[in-house]
Amino acid sequence: MPPAPTHDTWLRRAKDLTPNGAHFIDGAGEAGGGATFAAVSPRDGRILADVADGGEAEVNTAVAAARSAFDHGPWPRLAPAERGRVLIRIADLLEEHRVELALTVSLEMGKTITDAHDIELRAVINTFRWYGQLADKLADESPHTASDALALVTREPAGVVGAIVPWNFPLTIAGWKVAPALAAGCTVVLKPSENSPLSALLLARIGLEAGLPPGVLNIVNGEGPVAGRALGLHPDVDVLAFTGSTAVGRHFLRYAADSNLKRVWLELGGKSPNIVLPDAPDLERAAATAAWGIFFNQGEMCTAPSRLLVHSSIAEQVTEAVVARARALRVGDPLDPATDMGALVSERHLDRVLGHVRDGVDSGARLRAGGGRTLPDTGGVHLEPTVFDRVAPDSRLAREEIFGPVLSVLTFDDVDEAIALANATEYGLAAGLWTSDLSTAHRVSRALKAGTVWVNCYEEGDLTVPFGGMKQSGNGRDKSAHALEKYMELKTTWIQL
Ligand code: NAD
Repeated sequence: MPPAPTHDTWLRRAKDLTPNGAHFIDGAGEAGGGATFAAVSPRDGRILADVADGGEAEVNTAVAAARSAFDHGPWPRLAPAERGRVLIRIADLLEEHRVELALTVSLEMGKTITDAHDIELRAVINTFRWYGQLADKLADESPHTASDALALVTREPAGVVGAIVPWNFPLTIAGWKVAPALAAGCTVVLKPSENSPLSALLLARIGLEAGLPPGVLNIVNGEGPVAGRALGLHPDVDVLAFTGSTAVGRHFLRYAADSNLKRVWLELGGKSPNIVLPDAPDLERAAATAAWGIFFNQGEMCTAPSRLLVHSSIAEQVTEAVVARARALRVGDPLDPATDMGALVSERHLDRVLGHVRDGVDSGARLRAGGGRTLPDTGGVHLEPTVFDRVAPDSRLAREEIFGPVLSVLTFDDVDEAIALANATEYGLAAGLWTSDLSTAHRVSRALKAGTVWVNCYEEGDLTVPFGGMKQSGNGRDKSAHALEKYMELKTTWIQL
């Protein structure tokens, strides 16, 4: 095994990056109307590239390319195994370009290079490989009907997919939409977040090199309320696959209602509870996992266990252990492999998170760790890992998604109170539970309104298992074979014999 790259190695490699900010439409770079915006790195405030700023015109061009590729091009008509081979080739090329991609992600949105290289890239590579391998493993159905008839239930690609994604896992989440959509035979227009416009452009170029026909995967960058809205309202888009906040998710349902009733799939926000019962198998591990869960990726995780619900008899012990871990974390340069927590995505986002911290203090919650901006001299956007306890269940701290490294600790006295607290949220994305009792594990998991429940662990996952939310955390599922259902229509053909 070669030695792990050092801070200096990453700094040197970063100097070699030459980001290209043009849109990617119909198999080629496309400047669009000439308007641009600056991709600013939260690592140091430097401009990484000028990025083409798309509006309705660019979205129209991209959708026309995707429409034509779907209606007349080879992609939806290829044998599924052929499509699968192209997706597997994309996975191979992502692996080849892993360093460039990881650096681009780390610089554009601030996560550590280690997480970008080892976690984000592993996830997106696995996603393309997995859906590539799955592409020809699906079978249609012929249900048993009356003997004088033959019924066929066939899956057909749903058409042109508009995918709108956030910045916290810019490649992984793009992959969770693009890979199953392509495997299904759809064509795609992807609009990345304004905060992470560059890595998706690399993905599109890799797609072309791997053999995607022009027009099958198009990228338009631009502001959400402009380019995202135009994609949402476009009459030639058949499916919208959105990941982002619940507030913006609502817009997409309106866009569909106000245009062509396109299918809308939503992966939205969360305020996930993590319940620690006194019979947890290992309280130290529960505390360590709670701290890791909220501070990983700077807390910019839809599934972040941002509400730690602890039985009052062990609350101080667990909180103290979490606080110790928070204080021990090294906040710093995302390109330094020794850094545990990198930069928040933008100054604007930091201001929002700091607003929640101020609000928490005003609400009477007790600040146990962090709470302030740090390392201002670097020009980077850094916040200390922050822990509040004595958080009131009805406070904003306990109810609103912060999407930063801010943990709220609440206490309860019995299991039913824990379940009620856990479910007292508009969200239903994920939940954690720590107990040694099998019956409690099953009973509480069933009672929790969440798309994923982790028992004695957190953030475990695999491409084989679906991911998504209940309640206002969304509908539909990413990952697993279930994700294909979002990009396929079922057709019944009834043949009278
Ligand atoms: P966001 O909702 O602000 O933006 C998401 C995307 O929507 C971006 O591409 C943005 O440009 C676009 N957009 C914004 N306003 C729009 C509008 N009016 N019309 C059309 N498009 C618009 O979210 P964000 O800040 O990028 O990401 C953070 C949010 O994403 C959090 O709420 C987080 O929980 C959620 N998230 C959810 C999951 C999940 O799988 N459930 C995963 C990651 C992030």
